[in-house]
Amino acid sequence: MQYVPSESRYSKIRFVRCGESGLKLPQISLGLWHNFGGVDAIENCRKMIHRAFDLGITHFDLANNYGPPPGSAEETFGKILKKDLRNYRDELIISTKAGWDMWPGPYGNYGSRKYLIASLDQSLKRMGLEYVDIFYHHRPDPETPLNETMSALDHIARSGKALYVGISQYKAEDTKRASDLLNQLGTPCLIHQPRYSLFDRWIEGGLTNVLSEEGIGCIVFSPLEQGLLTNRYLNGIPSDSRAGKEGTFLKKESITEEKILKIRKLNDIAVKRGQSLAQMSISWVLHNPVVTSALIGASKVEQVEDAFSSLSNLDFSDEELKRIDEIIL
Ligand code: NDP
Repeated sequence: MQYVPSESRYSKIRFVRCGESGLKLPQISLGLWHNFGGVDAIENCRKMIHRAFDLGITHFDLANNYGPPPGSAEETFGKILKKDLRNYRDELIISTKAGWDMWPGPYGNYGSRKYLIASLDQSLKRMGLEYVDIFYHHRPDPETPLNETMSALDHIARSGKALYVGISQYKAEDTKRASDLLNQLGTPCLIHQPRYSLFDRWIEGGLTNVLSEEGIGCIVFSPLEQGLLTNRYLNGIPSDSRAGKEGTFLKKESITEEKILKIRKLNDIAVKRGQSLAQMSISWVLHNPVVTSALIGASKVEQVEDAFSSLSNLDFSDEELKRIDEIIL
């Protein structure tokens, strides 16, 4: 049956200006790192994307290596786009990235001009697109001159294959250097994609100051700490969870008693706020005024809906913030 998006899709979501650019992003964005690979059931992928779009989540985040196997999340997304969303391309913000290992040899990772331009061409083919909205350098490269990497991003924007460019995982000082170079080239850095959650506050102060000063937007990944900051692990490790699966970055050993104790205490605060822990964790990252959008992952439609519902309670009392700090710091 042909998918028809909900007519009320823009009635509840809020769009936030991305830094000082002309682009606005939904406060919740959906990432396809996990659960959208060639090994995953496409019907479930399709349902999550439909539901997200129905809720006004217009931004879908990919990377060349998302899968498994690498590249297959872009293929999955391309199939869904072609079948269901081709008439809505202008309502979508689609991003992809290059930086991590993608193909063998010296030209398949990091930040050379050779790699970035070839990788984006491959991503566009896999998704069946003429352009992406945002193209990111996925991680800093300690060897390639930053000028080469930023020139490649500038070239990509000028070629029309990406409308905007961004960086991910760059530290504060390198972000400032990258931003200066991009400004000189005439293609400002639209957005930075760092990790940020109740359990990982490294961006506060240093990076967030640079982003504010430079007028760069901030979309934070893994705001749920890959599922830890939800009710998923309160009573053990479910076999269908990210930590329960082999080959993921959320290792069983990392779910210690100490962490679970903190998660339970955070869960108590969430319950008092009338939220699930996932909702409170998302509300908390969005409470930081520098954050443009919370980039979540999901394995089920219900998780997309849960994340969306966090938007109805974004305020925290001083007392709640103090209590949260006592638990996590
Ligand atoms: P999250 O921290 O949001 O974790 C998502 C996982 O949490 C889901 O797969 C699910 O796990 C669980 N979950 C989500 N919602 C709920 C809920 N309501 N209740 C219970 N459990 C829930 O984000 P990700 O780590 O998936 O990262 C999000 C996106 O960020 C990625 O898809 C990618 O686009 C981007 N990213 C970027 C990186 C970069 O270097 N730039 C690095 C990593 C991610 P389960 O499968 O167990 O159900």
